Amino acid sequence: MLGLPALSKESRSRRRLALSAAAKVNLVLEILGKRADGYHELVTVMQAVDLSDRLILEEAADLELAVSAEGVPGDATNLALRAATALREASGTDRGVHITLDKRVPVAAGLGGGSSDAAAVLLGLNRLWGLRWPAARLAEVATTLGMDVPFFLRGGGALGTGRGEELKPVPAGAVALVLVTPPFGSSTAEAYGRVTPSMYTDGSRAQTMAGLLRTRQAARVAASLYNGLEAAVAPLHPEIARMKAALLAAGALGVAMSGSGPTVFGVARSFEHARQIRARLTRASWRCWAVRTLGGPAVRVRTIGSMDRMMGRGQAARRGTLDPVFGGSNPPAPTTIRRGRR
Ligand code: ATP
Repeated sequence: MLGLPALSKESRSRRRLALSAAAKVNLVLEILGKRADGYHELVTVMQAVDLSDRLILEEAADLELAVSAEGVPGDATNLALRAATALREASGTDRGVHITLDKRVPVAAGLGGGSSDAAAVLLGLNRLWGLRWPAARLAEVATTLGMDVPFFLRGGGALGTGRGEELKPVPAGAVALVLVTPPFGSSTAEAYGRVTPSMYTDGSRAQTMAGLLRTRQAARVAASLYNGLEAAVAPLHPEIARMKAALLAAGALGVAMSGSGPTVFGVARSFEHARQIRARLTRASWRCWAVRTLGGPAVRVRTIGSMDRMMGRGQAARRGTLDPVFGGSNPPAPTTIRRGRR
């Protein structure tokens, strides 16, 4: 033996899944009006991007979560744990899971990170618990967790209507984007609470974007970005206008806020161009990523095999160090900006 870690029989037999849960941006978000149920009627084009949280799901007797990230609850209110609880109740199973969550997607940033974690847990547990539920049945549970959760069950690009949860897939070509997140979050409830009828639009911008996405024409996508919530959120956070201006000055073809913010993103001509734009953003407090849109699933699931266990990757996951399980660096690490550099 070459010094491989000794594993107990129990540890060898316990099944583990490694998952990545991608963020999204809203290329268009239109508010059509207020509904009788208190929600706003939306038309939005959501698009998954390759900036992802990482999760390990491991068979356990109870429902448990290990997470350490600022602003993310470690208790039963965490969306990952809420998803496990909801699926356990809906399926009537008595099985449990230990979830290790490595947050990479900024929190309360308009990128849907918590919703993506919830979708990942639903998809992972469907496999780990051997439920074999079809996507439509999982989507019913997803909707009870949040209006963005059904989107992440599938990923790619989608036109969302209703409260954003009625989805029509949009075949999307790859587009390179630069995400910029300031060091504060934005409350979705507060953003919608500030919406006034002057911010209502007719949904035609989203329809146009859905058509454009197929074309992969970055310049046309850039020219058609729109977020009706920006008028509600931007006055609260002057940084949003500054981030948009900086992205445009750095060469972005077009810019918009994602979801209820405060993350803004810019469209680039290519991934190389996105990396150049990212390198030109010099504000020390911003976190910036060059990313690509994902045509495929937002959630990827992999069984951690015996090889991973022999290499000690299972234990690394248990300790919350998920890199050895996933290998490489997806998502791209944010740029670390040195103060004073131009
Ligand atoms: P949305 O627009 O859907 O609210 P968001 O990207 O703006 O999404 P999230 O990062 O999903 O925001 O988090 C929203 C809130 O949910 C946070 O303030 C956080 O306290 C709570 N939360 C619960 N579970 C999670 C999780 N797994 N990841 C991140 N935040 C979580």
